[in-house]
Amino acid sequence: TAERVFNFSAGPAALPLPVLQEVQDELLCYPGAGASVMELSHRGKVFIDIMEQAEASIRSLLNISDDYAVLMLQGGAALQFSMIPANLLRDSGKSAQYLLTGAWGKKAIGEAKKEGTVDIAYSAAESNFDRVPTAGDYQTDDNAAYLYYCSNETIQGVQFQSEPQTGADVPLISDASSDFLSRPLDINKYGLLYACAQKNAGPAGVTVVIIRRDLLERGSESLPGYLNYKNHASNGSMWNTPPTFPIYVLGKVAKWLQNDIGGLETMEAQNRAKSALLYGTIDKHPEFYLGHAQTDCRSMMNVTFNLPNEELLGQFVAEASKQNLQNLKGHRSVGGIRASIYNAMPHEGAQALASFMDDFANKNG
Ligand code: PMP
Repeated sequence: TAERVFNFSAGPAALPLPVLQEVQDELLCYPGAGASVMELSHRGKVFIDIMEQAEASIRSLLNISDDYAVLMLQGGAALQFSMIPANLLRDSGKSAQYLLTGAWGKKAIGEAKKEGTVDIAYSAAESNFDRVPTAGDYQTDDNAAYLYYCSNETIQGVQFQSEPQTGADVPLISDASSDFLSRPLDINKYGLLYACAQKNAGPAGVTVVIIRRDLLERGSESLPGYLNYKNHASNGSMWNTPPTFPIYVLGKVAKWLQNDIGGLETMEAQNRAKSALLYGTIDKHPEFYLGHAQTDCRSMMNVTFNLPNEELLGQFVAEASKQNLQNLKGHRSVGGIRASIYNAMPHEGAQALASFMDDFANKNG
């Protein structure tokens, strides 16, 4: 582990070290199974137990009632861009409201338009996606098929601090890919919430979909089988072979959140403290570090900022890397720096980056 760096990757991202160590211990032979988890049938008792444990931990962390199905699917978050409108918009005779606050919402809208009518109820495009709406910034529609938003835009680093408003009885749908399990949530406010695992919750390859059971009935029988949520729900996410190894690691991360961290309130407090260190440093050097997000929309997960010029930006990345602070380059579409500080980023990592930033600004500002 001596060579491990502080990894600020936006995803796939750092995993908790105790989880990786357990995986290592069990890699060749899962206790009692005589084989690696990768080599076990998904229909055997050992794997079914692993999957049920993973689901139980997620249900317990988020207090999810039996009114909701918890699905573990393949296809990444991107497949949800299509599955959601395929099940809930196609043939509904309604339009779907989308709140556009960044790159991932834009992609979701592109896919939804292939399925039906999209009403972009709010867009932050004009301000280069530096904010999220507050009540009154857009009109809700009581007749919408659903209202969709992305709770944390990973590329721009803007995050909703609470759920947006919907029309009466309109299902709220969230792409929570980059803030899932980073803070408590009231699932009862949602019709559907989904997240790919590879930021806060596990490795790439599994996407968690939490869906209110009444919505399972809306997909048409003519949908391709994999795309119909109902098939997955009625087969315990085993309509086809699920991504067994990612689910196993996801289960371990959820257990780590329960037992080592002590639940999502504590996780949120830790995440808040880490982000406060970085935003505090940006605010200390406002002429030097140009934060992307409006202050009240700042993401607790992805801290995005720029430097006065490209030369300093390159120098920042190179010098940080020498101090084992790695993968800080912003997304190619936005530029600048993006420090992703998900659940598994230790406090010391955020502290090391904050103190590097402070020194760098003092030397070069
Ligand atoms: N939504 C958000 C908010 C994301 O951050 C990402 C991945 N970075 C995606 C969707 C797409 O995820 P995937 O690559 O798993 O399809």
